Amino acid sequence: MEIFALGEGSYSVDSTKKFIPFNPETDNFKDRPGSLFIHVNPFLIKTTHDLIVLDTGLGFKDTRDELLLHQNIRNAGFDPDDVTLVLMSHLHYDHSGGLVVERNGKLEPSFPQARHVIQKGEWEFGMAGKSSSYHKEIFEALQGVDITFVEGSGELISGIRYELSGGHCPNHQVFWIDIEGTKVLFGGDELPEPEQLIRKFIAKYDMDGRKAMQLRQEYGKLASEEGWTCLFYHSKSFAIGNVSSDDGGEHFTVTPA
Ligand SMILES: [Zn+2]
Repeated sequence: MEIFALGEGSYSVDSTKKFIPFNPETDNFKDRPGSLFIHVNPFLIKTTHDLIVLDTGLGFKDTRDELLLHQNIRNAGFDPDDVTLVLMSHLHYDHSGGLVVERNGKLEPSFPQARHVIQKGEWEFGMAGKSSSYHKEIFEALQGVDITFVEGSGELISGIRYELSGGHCPNHQVFWIDIEGTKVLFGGDELPEPEQLIRKFIAKYDMDGRKAMQLRQEYGKLASEEGWTCLFYHSKSFAIGNVSSDDGGEHFTVTPA
């Protein structure tokens, strides 16, 4: 198995929930008062049978009008058309923007050949259009695409389990991938940064902050005991890490994998 972090860069987001690219080398934090700064890392996993994308980023394009996500997949040595599985932790815009690409003023699926895996409740919530964290037009543009709507927890294919977690948002899911001797946990926004394993806290951006904190503790314990490599979607330091614990899963150390 090969794992790649497809870094989409850094962004600021203000109260209007608009994401603006932020280049730490040329932009200044002070010019964007009241903004939250985030880093975005979708992931690509190559197994013998599948080429898997885990969450799709904001869907920004490069200077040649190409999806950054597609370009990053090419840079890793693969063709975006060869992606077989798109696994979605949840559908907030910073994770689902790259599901579609705008061509000639129209939104088209970014991975028309792939099987997409989405929690049914998450899809319905996003389609209801009641939260500005979801962009309904993305989901409408996925008409005709192969989507498997999963419910609760279960096994998708041999070696890939989805688990309804519901801390960050009610229908959030995490993925446990155990293939070819490598164990990978994609925690999405339940486990967005290594820092959240190192320091325990309740985060404001989680719907159920206490639950999300408890889940992180559980995931850290399993990762350290069973050797799950963790993928950190919003990490600014390193995006792929291994977890260890000296005190049976109370406190953790995370090192780049
Ligand atoms: Zn997020």
